Amino acid sequence: SSFASLGLAEPLLRAISDTGYSQPTPIQAQAIPVVMQGADVLAAAQTGTGKTAGFTLPILHQLMQRPLAQHKPGRPRCLILTPTRELAAQVEESVRTYGKYTSLRTMVMFGGVNINPQIGALRKPLDILVATPGRLLDHAQQKTVDLSGVEILVLDEADRMLDMGFIRDIRRVLALLPKQRQNLLFSATFSDEIRELSRGVLNNPAEVSV
Ligand code: AMP
Repeated sequence: SSFASLGLAEPLLRAISDTGYSQPTPIQAQAIPVVMQGADVLAAAQTGTGKTAGFTLPILHQLMQRPLAQHKPGRPRCLILTPTRELAAQVEESVRTYGKYTSLRTMVMFGGVNINPQIGALRKPLDILVATPGRLLDHAQQKTVDLSGVEILVLDEADRMLDMGFIRDIRRVLALLPKQRQNLLFSATFSDEIRELSRGVLNNPAEVSV
């Protein structure tokens, strides 16, 4: 299969062509069509499988297809939670790369750095926010971020987030999101804890594994 046959929008295909990828990886071939349809997805995938493009490309596609008439500052339409700042930075870089021919705006936030530049950045409209849970909650508490417009939630490397003790933070974030939304959960392993989290977050998910 090819990226074009998956039905991705032309600006995304152009960005993929720039990267030099010749064809979708197995996780991409499976995940892209179901995520594009708006389904919830439970995906078993390790780092190195191309999972990041597997969720960022169809998310960019969907947000392009549903443009907003008006953007409010600091109110993302897609929230991607990751366990570490390194992963957050890496995922945001991917979103930027694949979205470079779209007008969608992205931002990354994580702890351990001064919060003020993030507060400044949140005064502008944004579409996709990549965040670690603790710093996101700091912003939510200060009302510098508004999660009431989130249409798509991604829990990336959910098993690592649980291992790092983020379950309570994740539950606090979930409570701030609109009930009606699309949910994607990526995890390398499937413990009882991950299954319980999945049951609470995902609605009738399509299962994808490689
Ligand atoms: P990930 O599993 O998302 O961390 O991606 C692993 C690596 O695979 C990254 O360096 C990507 O740039 C690369 N990659 C993603 N999709 C493809 C593809 N379809 N063909 C070749 N390389 C890819």
